[in-house]
Amino acid sequence: MSMTFQLTILGSGSATPLLGRHPTAQLLEIDSDYFLVDCGEGTQFRLLEQRIRPGRLRYIFISHLHGDHYFGLAPLLSSLNLAGRTEELYLFGPAGLLEILTVQFRHSDTRLGYPLHFQPVEPGRPGPILDLPQLTVESIPLEHRIDCSGYLFREKPRKRKLIKEKLPADMPIDYLRRLKDGQDIVDEAGNVLFRTDDYSLPAPPPRSYAFCSDTRYTEKFLQQIAGISLLYHETTFLDDQLARAGEVFHATARQAATLATKAGVQQLLIGHFSSRYKQTEGFLEEARSVFPETYLATEGHTFPVGSAAL
Ligand SMILES: [Zn+2]
Ligand SMILES: [Zn+2]
Repeated sequence: MSMTFQLTILGSGSATPLLGRHPTAQLLEIDSDYFLVDCGEGTQFRLLEQRIRPGRLRYIFISHLHGDHYFGLAPLLSSLNLAGRTEELYLFGPAGLLEILTVQFRHSDTRLGYPLHFQPVEPGRPGPILDLPQLTVESIPLEHRIDCSGYLFREKPRKRKLIKEKLPADMPIDYLRRLKDGQDIVDEAGNVLFRTDDYSLPAPPPRSYAFCSDTRYTEKFLQQIAGISLLYHETTFLDDQLARAGEVFHATARQAATLATKAGVQQLLIGHFSSRYKQTEGFLEEARSVFPETYLATEGHTFPVGSAAL
C-alpha cells in the first residue's frame, strides 16, 4: 500500500497578470489530506478546473502578504462557508493575515460557520509548525522585500512491508505489528523465531517537499533543505536580469539551480515566472545547464514527489 504524496500546480505566474498564467497556488496531497500552499487570485476556480473539491481542504499555508500569494484566500474561505462547511480549517501565515481577513469579513458581515484556526508563522525563524501522524511541516526563512516564509513537508518514516507469501497463516497480529516495526520475534529463552529481515522489506525512504517562494538567492536555509526529494524554488527572472532580481528580492533560474546543486536535492521545480517572459523554455534551459533534474511548474500538472520520473 503506497501512500499518496503528490503536488498539483495551480498557478505559476508572478504579480503582473498575464493571460494563461495564474498567480501562485499549489495543492499538495499527502495520504488523503489536502494542503493548499499559497492562494493567489482565482485559486478557487483553479481548484474547480482541476476537479479538486475545495471542501476537502484542511490546511492552508500562506508564504507572505504580496497579493499574488493570497488574494484568492478570502473568496475561498467565503465559498467554503456558503457551501455549509462545518469542519475545522487550519491556516498558517504572517501575523497580518488574520487582521486582513477580519476586516474583510467584518465589513461584509460574514460569519464563518466553521472553526478557522489561525497560527501566525514567525518570519526568519525556521522550525516545526505542524505535527501530523504521517508528516511534519516546518517553516523556512526566506529573504524577500517583506516577511516571507517557505514550508517544508516531511513524511515520517513508513513501516516495513510484510512479505505476505512467506507469513505463516496463523501468525499473531502482535507479531505482524512488530515485524513491520523492524523488530525480530524472540521467545522467552531468547531464540529468534522470526527475523524481520526474512518476513518484511525495508520501508521506502521518507519523501519531502520544500516550497520556497518568494526569495532572493540565499544559502541561509541550505542545511534545512539538504537532500530533500523535491525543491520548489521561485525563478522570477533569467540570469540576464541578475542585478534586477537582487534589487527586487527575487531569484534567477541559474540561482535556483545552483541552490538545488549545493543542497543536494533530488529534483527541482521552478515557477513564479515574470510576465516579461512570454515563453518559459528559457527557464528550463538555463536551470538544466546547472542542475539537469529541473522541471517547470507547469499549471495543471501533478508531480509525484519522490518519484524517479516527474
Ligand atoms: Zn510573488
Ligand atoms: Zn512577493
